[in-house]
Amino acid sequence: NPTFAVHEVEVRGVTVKAFKAIPGTVPALLASGWEQHGEGALEFLAYESETYTYAEFTQSVNQLAHAMRDELGLGQGDRVAIAMRNYPELLMLVLAISSIGGVVVFLNAWWTSEELDYALLDSKARVVFADGLRMERLQPLRDALDLTLIGVRDAEGQTAHDLSSLKRNARSDTAPLVEIDTDDDFAIMYSSGTTGHPKGVVQTHRGAVNAVFSWLMQSVIAPLVDPPDPDAPEPLRPSALVVTPLFHVTATHPLFLLSLPAGAKITLMHKWDPEQAVRLIRDNSITRFLGVPTQSAELMEAALKMGETLPSLDYLGAGGAKRPGAQVAKLAEAFPNAGVATGWGMTETNALGIGMIGDDYKARPDSAGKLHPPVQELRMLDDAGNDVPLGELGEITVKSPANMRCYLNKPEATDEVLQDGWLRTGDLGVLDLDGFVTILDRKKNIIIRGGENIACLDVEGALHHHPDVLEATVFSVPDDRLGETVGAAVQLKAGAQLTLADMAAFLDGHLAKFKIPTALWTQHDILLRGATDKIDRRAIREACLNNKET
Ligand code: AMP
Repeated sequence: NPTFAVHEVEVRGVTVKAFKAIPGTVPALLASGWEQHGEGALEFLAYESETYTYAEFTQSVNQLAHAMRDELGLGQGDRVAIAMRNYPELLMLVLAISSIGGVVVFLNAWWTSEELDYALLDSKARVVFADGLRMERLQPLRDALDLTLIGVRDAEGQTAHDLSSLKRNARSDTAPLVEIDTDDDFAIMYSSGTTGHPKGVVQTHRGAVNAVFSWLMQSVIAPLVDPPDPDAPEPLRPSALVVTPLFHVTATHPLFLLSLPAGAKITLMHKWDPEQAVRLIRDNSITRFLGVPTQSAELMEAALKMGETLPSLDYLGAGGAKRPGAQVAKLAEAFPNAGVATGWGMTETNALGIGMIGDDYKARPDSAGKLHPPVQELRMLDDAGNDVPLGELGEITVKSPANMRCYLNKPEATDEVLQDGWLRTGDLGVLDLDGFVTILDRKKNIIIRGGENIACLDVEGALHHHPDVLEATVFSVPDDRLGETVGAAVQLKAGAQLTLADMAAFLDGHLAKFKIPTALWTQHDILLRGATDKIDRRAIREACLNNKET
């Protein structure tokens, strides 16, 4: 197996035999899964009533890869976009594109035509694989951007003609022989970053493989930190439920890509439904659940209502937003066999950077855990770039082989956050004596609504197009279910009125639904300004939430 070799490493003071990440590539992960796990006869993927063995899955990947090369003329370095919800083909396409040396451009499925236009112009991807709804949003862009659109599933979820004919034309179903370098680009994932419009985060094969390695390490370290009961029955085959969209790192790396070398089975959910998730976990003995904190809370509520304790669950992770400490204890009680783990990571770190292992959650339920492989070093910095003393608030800054290569087409934005391999994350927290990091605030102007990141500037930009709006600022509003929602404070032109419904109707079609503010404060006076005459977003937020005049 070319991707992983066993060696000894020291993690958290213990020397463990572990997988060493050597330069590897994403297609090699599939090859290693195929070799290690039943020569392909094992079931690898399930979606509703459809199932795919390793053999069937790999065959589809290879057919798609050949057809992309022969029929579409795609090859090394070409960017190929995917715009769809969680369908099995999404996984096949990721591997097919990368096995011919192409670069996968993940497009957010909630985006409007305008937002898709922005990302396609930015990434220069001209071939897009899409499902029914995304096809509708892409059609108006086809001519102007000279796109080749390939339907994958129709609006009813049936396999689309485009895809089946493409696969039929494939001349071979063996893996294409293409030399891929570990430092070649693997994917572009869009994230709001620390400011402004969504940015294409460029990830290399090395980054993705090292992100996967971090999770493999976890399965090696966890039993050492928290030894299993010797009388416990034989462990179940690892299997993961994918509930978050696959265009986010939270789903692609620790669930999809990890499952390839780990021999885990993947069960895909197309749309989040907590009761259905409980049934899928119960009926398929699923061992691994990872979503945003809102989803673990909703899973717990549904399970309690249905009288289920889901004994097969052994990993209940959450990341992407802060998980309240109080939720952690309740989860541990509701799912007694599950190791409750919070993790911190971002698209730019390619997955986990700080995370809980074993009993960490009991020691510091409010924290995000400790430094986690593949991150090698962690610093907490002040604004001037100096280390803050232990226990004081600083910006989480990480050095890791999984860090992004750069932001696409944005050298200045890249230089602002990435220097000498160190990534400044815009997240503020405290590192304590025991190595736990507790995240307390954010330097960057983003809102995290149920795990989906929204750049304040993105929404403010759209609001400024409204003819009655003179000035606008956007901020987070606390929410019990989603963690945060979007609020806007607007200065209107003299005599103008704007209701929440008017504003939402105006923004619809320009911004994805999850970005549209659900709380609005309007006024005719100017919005609060700070010392440099810049709008003081923090002060305005505070005043609005306390219902004071701004
Ligand atoms: P994304 O790039 O969409 O994965 O979002 C990454 C951002 O989500 C981070 O920079 C944090 O602001 C936030 N985040 C991720 N995990 C946590 C956590 N455990 N606690 C608090 N915020 C988190």
